[in-house]
Amino acid sequence: MLVDFHMHSVFSDGCLSPRELVAQGRLHGLGMMALTDHDEIAGIDSMIEAAGQDIKIIPGMELSSSYKGKEVHILGYDFDCQSPLLHSYLDYFKARRLERIQKMVDRCRENGCAISWADIQAIAPKTSAYGRPHIAQVLVQKGYAKDTNEAFDKILSSKGTCYVPKPKEAVDRVIDVIHDAGGYAVLAHPGLIKNDDYVKQILNFPIDGIEAYHTSHNFSQEDKYRSMAEQRGLFVTGGSDFHGIEGRYPSSIGEYTVESELVEEFINLVSCD
Ligand code: AMP
Ligand code: ZN
Ligand code: FE
Ligand code: FE
Repeated sequence: MLVDFHMHSVFSDGCLSPRELVAQGRLHGLGMMALTDHDEIAGIDSMIEAAGQDIKIIPGMELSSSYKGKEVHILGYDFDCQSPLLHSYLDYFKARRLERIQKMVDRCRENGCAISWADIQAIAPKTSAYGRPHIAQVLVQKGYAKDTNEAFDKILSSKGTCYVPKPKEAVDRVIDVIHDAGGYAVLAHPGLIKNDDYVKQILNFPIDGIEAYHTSHNFSQEDKYRSMAEQRGLFVTGGSDFHGIEGRYPSSIGEYTVESELVEEFINLVSCD
């Protein structure tokens, strides 16, 4: 069975609806999927509804945190979607995202890019979890960058002209939030942290799994993170991190998939209710 446990929808910075994600998953024969929107769980119900009986949907989310100044993403799975604590946490961080992206839009204008808040809302009418990819797409649309990569490089990355840092929670606090809601906490795309000492230190927190399989990892990274998980008794997961943004790999759900045997322990854990 093919599975994919990492993807984004229009409820954060993805371009497809949960229904469209499921339709692509069905087309490519996926047996299980998880929607992991940034700081948001609003799309999960429609994902489950669209999937019906033939694809199993695991509740998921991707929370931003920081460790020693580095951005670290923690995936949460199989939590209680009704948890009041989780809802207040997500509401707080969505409010911080909104303030930050509004500040970045102001900076863009001060730096000669004539974009407005209305442009951001027009490109992402369904979200309340705003992110830099929304600004990137508007900058491309208005001709200020040739693609989203260039928009990040020149304007939106931490070295870009219009960067505003995102307020972030400490990794251990984010893990607590996921555990409080009854879920599993997984270190997302460890290769993107680009510092394996930090990765090992983060694994000393009470985390449950590692995303060994990710579009950005090569085979040797997959092996390395899989053995780190084995050594520490953690499970491994994997996914495409699909966004549906033009020019960004993968271009559809099903282009990057994970064989279920590779993530069997995780599947057993989330299937036993
Ligand atoms: P934010 O959460 O607003 O800081 O935006 C971070 C998101 O932007 C990440 O989750 C990625 O999806 C995306 N991103 C980061 N760097 C790049 C890049 N160089 N090109 C395209 N997308 C990027
Ligand atoms: Zn994203
Ligand atoms: Fe991420
Ligand atoms: Fe992601």
